[in-house]
This record gives sequence, C-alpha cells and structure tokens, in this order.
Amino acid sequence: MAYIEDRAAWFEGQGLWQHIPASDWLDWTWQLKNRITTIEQLERLMTLTDDERAGCLHANQKLALAITPYFFNLIDRHDPDCPIRKQVIPRGAEMLVADGEMLDSLGEDAHSPVPGLVHRYPDRVLFLVTDRCAAYCRYCTRSRLVSNAQDYNFHPEYEQGLRYIEAHPEVRDVLLSGGDPLLLSDKKLEHLLARLRAIKHVEFIRIGSRIPVFLPQRITPELGEIFKKYGPVWMSIHVNHPKEATAELRGACERLSFAGVPLGNQSVLLKGVNDDVEVMKALIHRLLRMRVRPYYLYQMDLITGGAHFKADVRKGIEIIRALRGHTTGYAIPQYVIDAPGGGGKVPINPDYVENVTEEEIIFRNYEGQLFRYPLQAKIRPAAPPAEVASEGFLLSAPLVE
Ligand code: SF4
Repeated sequence: MAYIEDRAAWFEGQGLWQHIPASDWLDWTWQLKNRITTIEQLERLMTLTDDERAGCLHANQKLALAITPYFFNLIDRHDPDCPIRKQVIPRGAEMLVADGEMLDSLGEDAHSPVPGLVHRYPDRVLFLVTDRCAAYCRYCTRSRLVSNAQDYNFHPEYEQGLRYIEAHPEVRDVLLSGGDPLLLSDKKLEHLLARLRAIKHVEFIRIGSRIPVFLPQRITPELGEIFKKYGPVWMSIHVNHPKEATAELRGACERLSFAGVPLGNQSVLLKGVNDDVEVMKALIHRLLRMRVRPYYLYQMDLITGGAHFKADVRKGIEIIRALRGHTTGYAIPQYVIDAPGGGGKVPINPDYVENVTEEEIIFRNYEGQLFRYPLQAKIRPAAPPAEVASEGFLLSAPLVE
C-alpha cells in the first residue's frame, strides 16, 4: 500500500501504558526495566504471526529480543507488514544463511589491536564501548557480539583502548559505538569523554547511537551538560522510517542540538521498511525538521540471517535519483555500500556523467536533460559584457539528444 505522509502528525503520549505515572514513563531507567524481552510478554500485547513466533523462539541464539515500551507504541499490532514491527520483532528467516553472508561482514575483528577497538583507517578508530542496546534491530551489522546471544563474550577494555589511542598520534577521529554508548551511565560516559578530550591529537569525537530513537528519555539535561562540557561531540542517530520521528524524538534532538551536538542520521535501506521513494522523502523531510542532517543511506551489510531485509540496489539508486533536484540538497543522504570484508564505504550514485573528454564533460541534470561544460578554455581578448554573457549561456545550454 502506498505510504501517505501526514506532515502535521507527530506521535506522542504513553500509548498502551496510560496507567503508568508520567514520572515513570519519562524516566529512562523505568523504560529499560520494563522492556519487552520475552515471547510471553510480547504475546500479552499482540498476536504474533507463525513466522514471528519462530523468530522469537530462536532469538536467544541469534540476537536478543528487547523493545522499550516507548518504541513498542509505534508498532501497528494489527499489521504484520508494519515497518516498525519488522525492525524489532524477530522472524524465522533470521536463522537462514544465504551465500556471501558473514558473521563479521565488515572484517572488524581482523583490525582490532585491542578488544573493542577497530583501527582500519590511519587517522580514525572505532571504539566499541558496550555490547548492549536499548532495543535490538533485527538487521544489526554487529549481531555477532551485540546482546551476547551468540556467546561472543565481548568485554570492552576501556583503559587498553584509551592507552592505544594515546600512543597513536595519527588518530585524530574517535567514533564511540557498540552496542549503544548512551546506555553507559553519565559517570562512565563523562570519564570516557574527559579522557579522550585530554588527548591532544584527538580532534574529532563522535557517537553512533540509536538511543534517541528507542529511548529518547535518556537525553536528559544532565547528559546535555556533559556534551556541553566536552564538546564538540558529533552524533549519528539511526532513524529508518518517518513513523519513528515522534514528538519525543524531536524533543530529544532539540535537547542534543541545544547542548551543541551536531546531528546526522544513518539509515539502512531495508526491504519492506523504507525502500520506497515516498517513505524516504517523508523521512528526510522530518529529519530536517528535527535539526538532523540525513548523512548516509546504507545498503544493508551481508550479515548472516539478513537476506529477508536486503533491498535491491537499483531501488536505492532510484530513490536517490528521485530526491536529487526534487528536494532540498541538505536532505539527501549519501547512498553507500560498506564494501564486504572491510573495503570501506563506497558511494553508489545515479549516473549523471555521460562522457568526459579533454575538451568537455557531458552530463544530465535531474530532469534528464543533457548539458556540456567545456574543460578547455579558449582565451581571447575581452569582449563587450553583453557578448560574454550570451556566450556563457550557450556553453551550458541543453544539448539536443
Ligand atoms: S542500535 Fe545499533 S548496535 Fe544496537 S542493535 Fe540496533 S543497529 Fe545494532
């Protein structure tokens, strides 16, 4: 069914949890304590399909089941195809393995000099500080370690990681990730940020987090003070569908922005969730309204048990083509494939360039018209202004196909 966006509607309130005092609902520790983590809890709230039941029964061998009450409210309990439901309720297909799928699809373990630290690019490191998240995304790239359902027994070694960064002056950029770094206590997070800030060669600190989406209550004034104190700290949040853009998420983004945290968004292109032009357009417009710059749109990594989520790359290219020129440039994310095995992010773009020669480049605009842009300027004596203007226009006029 075609997606219909209601631009004025921002979900808010306690939904199924009306009986809970607002002070509990707004308390992030209450949300964590009351997560839905078992099939029995889920079935008290909704009717599962057979496929979902099978997925839930296997979740503890693959990736744990956990959904915050706040996020559960966004699920359409009467629609098995609900894009929010698909992201967090396990399905039987997670236990199937397709050709080319890998446990560690980005080859992170091979580039890990100390536990929890990935140093693949010369000037930046990925610092995995926890294996826990507020809720678990069924397509998670790090499902091998996140939630410890696969007995990976991840133990982040903060001190070893910090010492490694201190000893490597080439590292100017540190990305805190996991799991979700914002699940750490304020005290632990402040300690990490203070230590990183004290390292002279670390210029850029960023956090990858889905907490604002799963648990916006975690973005407290106290957390904001920590970001102000150790900023600039950049943050990539992770929103996949416009239904996730609620009044609560908008409020959390506002609090982060006012604490000086520049916000970007990373979406994963997911079959049946957001592989649709209208869905993606609604999402990126909501992101801009929440002060968040759409940053990356990822083709899904080749993780084991993820085939049912894999969208067609041609669909991704079609989405980007439908956005470029048709909406605000700030709203358009870069579509990328993280090259399997650890080759890094590679931009996947619609083909606008038709030909490049010594003399010129020929390319199409967003409407498909052809243009040429000369690469070799023929220098001549200055002409009267009127003539220059007319010649400049002719050089960039559409070619007849
Ligand atoms: S929040 Fe991030 S790390 Fe956690 S399950 Fe989702 S994608 Fe994986």
